[in-house]
Amino acid sequence: MKKWTLVLATLLGGMIGYAQEEGFHQYELPGYTDTPLLPGGEFRVHQKDRPLPQRVIPPDLNAAAESSAPSDATVLFDDKNLDHFQPTSWPVKEGVLIADKGNLLTKSAYGDCQFHVDWRSPNSAQGSPSNMGNSGILFMGLYELQIYDSFSSKIYADGSAAAIYGQIPPLVNACRKPGEWQTYDVIFMAPKFDKDGKLLEAARITVLHNGVLVQNNTKILGPMAYKATYPYKAHAAKLPLMIQGHNSPVEFRNIWIRELDR
Ligand code: MG
Repeated sequence: MKKWTLVLATLLGGMIGYAQEEGFHQYELPGYTDTPLLPGGEFRVHQKDRPLPQRVIPPDLNAAAESSAPSDATVLFDDKNLDHFQPTSWPVKEGVLIADKGNLLTKSAYGDCQFHVDWRSPNSAQGSPSNMGNSGILFMGLYELQIYDSFSSKIYADGSAAAIYGQIPPLVNACRKPGEWQTYDVIFMAPKFDKDGKLLEAARITVLHNGVLVQNNTKILGPMAYKATYPYKAHAAKLPLMIQGHNSPVEFRNIWIRELDR
């Protein structure tokens, strides 16, 4: 009997994904049924049967950085294969993805999301000094969060690292030196269009660069453009994410994404 209980618990734990975590929810504070309704009226203060937040196991700070994705994230690149990306010539060397010819596009399409990447500018100037460490994350393949070596190279403000390229500079320059790993943690909200293709809501982006807030719910003005401005044009609710190839061997690791429901 005991054995079968254990087997069942293991099976259920495997299905639920977190139930085997030792100590998870071992104590309980049940809540109340006689407290005032919150403004809006859907739930009471401390309501007993209010649905609990879904458990996500956060990144393990004791683990290697390469594996630090939350349990419900899609890991787009860990340290080996590029299965989540469309065919590409970008090489993977010693667990690191290196920008090469052309852009790198995901196979799947994404809209609202949380996104994480570790990136590193090349140690020495590669190609033109005006192109140092140039890459970028283009959400929906259209809206570029710039990657650039803004430590070594003073480019125009809206071309700096963590700028919305060609539009909005970051709040501060939190760039590390070339050769050092850096992080972007991003919340991207896709633009919304009505059925006639009219823009209802612009895209919005929040970005932490190396843990420092650099874009705070910033309204994106339209698709990325060089020496130009492009208006929004209606598109699907989800599109592939793109990492820009810009003739600089920028390196990447630990790329993950969590789709967000609004
Ligand atoms: Mg770029």
